[in-house]
Amino acid sequence: MRPHHIRDILFTREQIEQRVKTLIEEIAGSCEAENLVMIGILRGSFIFLADLVRGFEQHDLHPRIDFITLASYGSGTESSGSVRILHDTNENLAGADVVVVDDILDSGCTLSFAKDLFLKRGARSVRTCVMLDKQAKRTVEIKADYTGFPVEDVFVVGYGLDYDNRYRELPHIAEVTFGEQDR
Ligand code: 5GP
Ligand code: MG
Repeated sequence: MRPHHIRDILFTREQIEQRVKTLIEEIAGSCEAENLVMIGILRGSFIFLADLVRGFEQHDLHPRIDFITLASYGSGTESSGSVRILHDTNENLAGADVVVVDDILDSGCTLSFAKDLFLKRGARSVRTCVMLDKQAKRTVEIKADYTGFPVEDVFVVGYGLDYDNRYRELPHIAEVTFGEQDR
């Protein structure tokens, strides 16, 4: 790990809670409930997915839930471009209406890989849901169907997002600044 500081909070716990509530409404209002499968991309999506699905019961949504572990990053902070499956889904996706959930949309490689994969496996539809959208870094053309917040081109942690697998537990989303200096 490089010397770093967790400094500015970009999205507070309360802001995230509010936004998640409205995302639940958006998803419930537009998705096919019948054969819904929520698929979280691990590890970054675990908190976001948990928060989303806990709001589903009141909309009478009872999705199957699955996970896939994809890697495009090492321990660095730049996307590598190639995506590997480290741990695959278990559910039968034939005819399913899938909502893929990820923490952040950056280059777009991860989400477009997941979307193509689930369509190839016979999903009837695949929608995408991300907490953050770092639009400036897109190299693959993809737009999420549901987005929490747009974010500038900075490296962020918290609410599931990590730096070297740390800080995922933060209830807010904060910017990481690198270097020894104390601002
Ligand atoms: P993409 O394939 O879109 O380039 O990258 C998506 C993945 O990169 C996310 O699932 C996330 O793991 C990681 N990522 C991209 N930007 C950030 C960031 O600012 N902070 C953290 N912690 N991870 C990021
Ligand atoms: Mg990730």
